[in-house]
Amino acid sequence: MREAGRIVAIAHEEMRRAIAPGVSTKALDTIALTVLRDHDAEPCFLGYAPGNHPPFPATITASVNNELVHGIPSESRVLDEGDIIGLDVACFYKGYVGDAAFTHPVGEVSRSARRLMDATKAALNAAIAASVLGNSISDVAKATAKSAARAGYSVAREYTGHGVGRAMHEEPQVPNWWSGKKSQAQWQDYELQAGMTYAIEPMLIAGRSDLLELDDGWTVVTKDGSLTAHFEHTVAITEDGPLVLTLP
Ligand code: MG
Repeated sequence: MREAGRIVAIAHEEMRRAIAPGVSTKALDTIALTVLRDHDAEPCFLGYAPGNHPPFPATITASVNNELVHGIPSESRVLDEGDIIGLDVACFYKGYVGDAAFTHPVGEVSRSARRLMDATKAALNAAIAASVLGNSISDVAKATAKSAARAGYSVAREYTGHGVGRAMHEEPQVPNWWSGKKSQAQWQDYELQAGMTYAIEPMLIAGRSDLLELDDGWTVVTKDGSLTAHFEHTVAITEDGPLVLTLP
């Protein structure tokens, strides 16, 4: 899983370097696919078709501005100065998965966009810091929610992090919030154990947290058009604390 995570990190770094006004999201997708294939890895998203979704047609999801997650790369989607773009990549390598996402500025971005990205990164770091023995999934979720709320942002409630291993989506779900009321608990809680591996992925929203899925069957946007940011790492729980697997 560390090797799968390393390959994902390299793909992200190559894409980050290519981001500029005038570049299409399809061009970024091609970069990621090339990195994966060069490292004998396969994209997890390509052909992925859970539930009622049509098969996802690309290696990455590329979600611009008010697009929260699952944006489909396209030659006609060209980046503009001031955009922010969330990129998500997962790969299979020797039977194991790595999964990570980052949101990047395109050229100069507004102060509010910068602040939203920083807060989302901070929420991810808070959740990673909470990924220690003695805690449960609910503690990780609460750490994300608390960090986001302190910065004044809402979190996407319908989309969660997830266990990662031989498949991209395994138990447990790792939400970005947690209801204090037992009757409202939507997810099973688990005590953290050494050897657990999961992806934490806060999605922060500058406005209201109401979301909409577009007719393409994938792209999720905010109903009020407000800006969103998304960061994700795959993490292993160890006796010595959290180990981030999706680093170069
Ligand atoms: Mg992901």
